[in-house]
Amino acid sequence: MFSWKGREYDVLVIGAGFSGAVMAERFASQKGFRVLVLEKRAHIGGNCYDKLDGNGIRIHQYGPHLFHTSHEDVWSYLNKFTEWHPYEHQVLGFIDGKLAPVPFNLNSIDAFFPESHAKELISRLLERYEFGAKVPILELLRTDDLELKKLSEFIYNKLFLNYTCKQWGCNPDEISPEVTARVPVVISRDNRYFHDKYQAVPSNGYTGLVENLLAHGNIKVDNSVDATNLLSLKFSENTIIFDGKPFNDPIIYTGMLDELFDFTLGELPYRSLKFKFEHHSCEKFQPTTTVNYPNDEAFTRITEFKHIMPEEQTNLSVGSTIVKEYPQDYSRENPSKNIPYYPIFNDENELLHKKYLKKLKKYKNLTLVGRLAQYKYFNMDDAVKNSLDTFSILKEKL
Ligand code: UDP
Repeated sequence: MFSWKGREYDVLVIGAGFSGAVMAERFASQKGFRVLVLEKRAHIGGNCYDKLDGNGIRIHQYGPHLFHTSHEDVWSYLNKFTEWHPYEHQVLGFIDGKLAPVPFNLNSIDAFFPESHAKELISRLLERYEFGAKVPILELLRTDDLELKKLSEFIYNKLFLNYTCKQWGCNPDEISPEVTARVPVVISRDNRYFHDKYQAVPSNGYTGLVENLLAHGNIKVDNSVDATNLLSLKFSENTIIFDGKPFNDPIIYTGMLDELFDFTLGELPYRSLKFKFEHHSCEKFQPTTTVNYPNDEAFTRITEFKHIMPEEQTNLSVGSTIVKEYPQDYSRENPSKNIPYYPIFNDENELLHKKYLKKLKKYKNLTLVGRLAQYKYFNMDDAVKNSLDTFSILKEKL
């Protein structure tokens, strides 16, 4: 048990994003623990945070978040905290002046190749892959079929190469293959971006959903408190110091792992983004929610929010809000670049992460969850699943 501002708590959760909020909810409802959540931002929800803009359009402050999952446990768990608006994400890529479906699929082939050549390519693909197969581009590039090799080079050069250079600051073969495999070539005419069983957005927004997760009477959320200023690890004694005192209660940490260790082993690299929101007076700005610009612009994609929940917008004549995403390096010193969005996956960074994990083992009451702390490219459902699974293990021990 520990005290904070005159009240007593049993567990400390650092960060009020999806991962931290699920952990807080589980501890409060399943263990009856009193939970203190410290969040450095003025709002909850982490990078899923959304809100209505001045025009009554729900925007995602930190870029588009579209929920999709095939995990039954995640779906049934979240259903206790929100109603859903059915939504299946669609993306087009702007390539050589044309718009074609992304992930690249059989319809995309039709968009770029003359009819007879497209037919030939599709039949060659179907000879090798089952209808509906999803083939990572780096795998398709290794094909021994000469025509399919040319097709894969076209897709690689036109869709992946420059987008990945912009997004990650390096070529696709310099980051983990899992990154480009998130958007495989799809051997079907299914134009949806995701193929999971459940696809929807929370009817009252992600902020509303996280608010409900944190609404339990045992949970207290303190915003605008940067816990890393209060927390330090005393290496010589393997003790955690919180607010000037040794801390022996459970801590769930969702922030950056290198920061927790005061960067003693070096910095774990992240990629950041700059978002440019624009409001246009037109009814609709583009044909789908997201249009990717692999080659033509400094931004990677434009997302138009009105496509996601048109029903929510009461005044349909107000125009439309879009956001452009400009990838940039992360820098903790520079306030315009200091939000870490993506861990950068390569062997060197994985190694450094593992070194930090080794150090962490000594602190038995400290548990890491989430994209930043675990240095993993979690989708929202992965983050929820990971927190649920971590709690299942912890609850037996505490
Ligand atoms: N990607 C690409 N071109 C595209 C879409 C994706 O090269 O048109 C690659 C790029 O490396 C990107 C990765 O696939 O970072 C994963 O894309 P996803 O849409 O999953 O990224 P997120 O929405 O997480 O930013």
